[in-house]
Amino acid sequence: MDDATQNNKDNIKKDKLNKIDKKYKLSTELKFAKKTRELEEFGAIPYNKYAECELCIHTSETRPMYEYNGKKFCIECINALRFPRNFEKMSEELFNHLRVQKQKNNKYDCILGFSGGKDSVVALYLLVNDLKLKPLCVTVDNGYMADEAMENCKNIAKYFKVDWLVLNRDYTKFFNKMIERGESPCRICSDMNMHELWHFARQTNITTIVTGHELPFGTTALRNMKKDITLVRLLVGYKLSEKERYEILDNLPWNKPDLGGYTTNCLVLGYALQEFYKRRNISFEYDRVSAMIRYGLMTKEEALSSLECPEVPLEVLKELKNRGLNVKIEKVEKSNNI
Ligand SMILES: [Zn+2]
Repeated sequence: MDDATQNNKDNIKKDKLNKIDKKYKLSTELKFAKKTRELEEFGAIPYNKYAECELCIHTSETRPMYEYNGKKFCIECINALRFPRNFEKMSEELFNHLRVQKQKNNKYDCILGFSGGKDSVVALYLLVNDLKLKPLCVTVDNGYMADEAMENCKNIAKYFKVDWLVLNRDYTKFFNKMIERGESPCRICSDMNMHELWHFARQTNITTIVTGHELPFGTTALRNMKKDITLVRLLVGYKLSEKERYEILDNLPWNKPDLGGYTTNCLVLGYALQEFYKRRNISFEYDRVSAMIRYGLMTKEEALSSLECPEVPLEVLKELKNRGLNVKIEKVEKSNNI
């Protein structure tokens, strides 16, 4: 068969597939109707007046609300009720995966994304003490890691006698752009870090990357990345409250830095939250914190206080400026002089 005939055949096949796709693809309206029908079948009726979710902190101003079993819930909580997260199953899957890595008997069982913040330190404690794994700790230093966090990395790695290395990058341009636009840099920053870890994993032939995240990817703690690298959200397997995490940290050579906001490693977060607050009067952490309450990892009270606009210490603002961020600190300095 010559090339032209082959191309023609391919085109006919493509055309057919497109037609099938069009026939079965639902319009946005139909999708919405299907969703509504599914929710109604589950017993959730749309609620159109103002309401506060009885499980998390969403209200009808932040999410569509539904009435279910005589109570008001946001769509996220309704979906969590419809498709319950099975933490036992997720843990089993997660621990099985890590056991297989251990049995390979390589120099390192996994890479741990290590920021020196509280969650990645707790993750290291669990990997070494509980699971007896040999992780290689890798820190992506984007130029805005607090000195205290780097110090914590050094001390903790030494304490657990694990190898630690730092990948130096510079996210200044990115942070300036996001803050100027009044947007949250967190998700993209975290994706960029993950991309660096993935590349590093490829180079070193380590096939599992562990992180200290506590929320699952939908209904699983494992994500298959490209080229057979698996991302593992270790803390999903433990369901530790904030209090339990700090109890672990109390016994380690780890010091909590004062950076503004809930972070224990990032210099940018507090300032980015403040700038976001100025424009929208809400925290960009709202959705993540709502999920924490939904899965019983935080109380409503803890959540609400963690969502207040943070105070950022003047030293942190000055440090950000020194490192190249366009930070406005005139006002703070004036009020300090009064
Ligand atoms: Zn809710």
